[in-house]
Amino acid sequence: MAIVRTRFAPSPTGFMHVGNLRTALYEYLVAKSQGGKFVLRIEDTDRERLVEGAEQVIYETLKQVGLQHDEGPDLGGEYGPYVQSQRKDLYRPYAEQLVKEGQAYYCFCTKERLESLHDESGLGGYDRHCRDLPEEEVARLLEAGTPHVIRQKVPLTGSTTFQDAVFGEITIENKEIEDQILLKADGYPTYNFANVIDDHLMHITHVVRGSEYLTSTPKYNLLYEAFGWEIPTYIHLPLIMGKNEDGSVSKLSKRHGSTSFEGLVNDGYLPEVVTNYIALLGWCPKDNREIFSLQELTESFSVDGISKSPAVFDYDKLNWFNGEYIKAMSAEDFLTHAMPYYQEVFGQEEKPWDVLHSILQARITKFNEIPGLLSFFRELPDYPADFFVNKKSKTTLENSPQMLQAAIETLEQLPAWELNSIHESLIGLAERMEVKNGTLLWPVRIAAAGTLVTPGGAMEILTLLGREEALRRLKAGLEKF
Ligand code: GLU
Repeated sequence: MAIVRTRFAPSPTGFMHVGNLRTALYEYLVAKSQGGKFVLRIEDTDRERLVEGAEQVIYETLKQVGLQHDEGPDLGGEYGPYVQSQRKDLYRPYAEQLVKEGQAYYCFCTKERLESLHDESGLGGYDRHCRDLPEEEVARLLEAGTPHVIRQKVPLTGSTTFQDAVFGEITIENKEIEDQILLKADGYPTYNFANVIDDHLMHITHVVRGSEYLTSTPKYNLLYEAFGWEIPTYIHLPLIMGKNEDGSVSKLSKRHGSTSFEGLVNDGYLPEVVTNYIALLGWCPKDNREIFSLQELTESFSVDGISKSPAVFDYDKLNWFNGEYIKAMSAEDFLTHAMPYYQEVFGQEEKPWDVLHSILQARITKFNEIPGLLSFFRELPDYPADFFVNKKSKTTLENSPQMLQAAIETLEQLPAWELNSIHESLIGLAERMEVKNGTLLWPVRIAAAGTLVTPGGAMEILTLLGREEALRRLKAGLEKF
């Protein structure tokens, strides 16, 4: 059997949308799960839609998620060049071959004429005006250098049927297919033409793309047939939907949240989480497992697990994934990710990072929550005295200042300011005072943090504040009474 070859063929028109990234991922997985090759091809023939820098975004995103291609513009390969604009001159002979064989024709319609068609029908389809121009007329117009395009001559009757690995058998009536442009007036091929030529020349065996291309596929097949080329296996992926506030779903768009890889990473999702999550947007492993590294995906992936029903992009679920990845991180990895956020709070100051790690790892779902959670370290919030009153801890406006006073006296005696000694001294103090630990620790924590809800307890907070600031805050707490 021929080696499996897939291609990711993005157009450099902006950010990497999650739909595009999913296509890239599945192309990669289809190839790699079968020991095949994954090719990157840049489709830049639509010169009007090009966005500067977008090609760079493609490379960077693929690199960040670890989808390493085997051939591509930057790596070369047997079937290059891998940028369509650099292949420009290669497409015309194929288009002309089709004209000779009666499968395509020159069209000299002006832009104005085409626009007037849109106005009248409201549908925008081409009316095949030039399809049957007399040969001499065509020759004369070409001779005179009249601007023209080459259009596909789609049969007017019958239907075209193809097999899709996900959606099954699809049949489209030929009369519904437009005589699409293959070669534009500027000499560039359209995407619709170039993708067929290139997929053939690059020996692509499996074409993976979004289901919005399902209805175009018959056009491509008519081209493959006209050339007598083998049709690749088609794998169309289900739509990606977003959840609306009223519980309905609609095509994923900005109003649902970030829809580009870059946007999601900026929102605080780890690149490997985005990859893991989008792998499940349309594909279901046999055992319903959810957490997968790219390597594990490659081992488990199979085309028959792809579903044709629309997938729903669920941001809550993505949060859950991110939290799970964070919980599974080593202390070292956690620190590397957390450090830029710690620095927002503590500047360049060294802190007992292990203490922060112990209070944050199980709590956060994104690293960018850290500055908010720790903001009370940077500045003591102004808080009311009644924060000291807590029924469960049996604290009141009467006993709280006594607790604070005792804590200050004990802590001032501590030779070393670190978690264990702070812990032992306060537990010892509560015992000697014959009160519940909570009765002592509640007011201490409130005075240290100035807020009711904190990550970590009194001892961790005192440790992180450092001796001087911790004692200053406890004393300031006394002033509230
Ligand atoms: N350039 C097309 C796009 O970005 C590629 C579609 C395909 O995979 O054939 O949508």
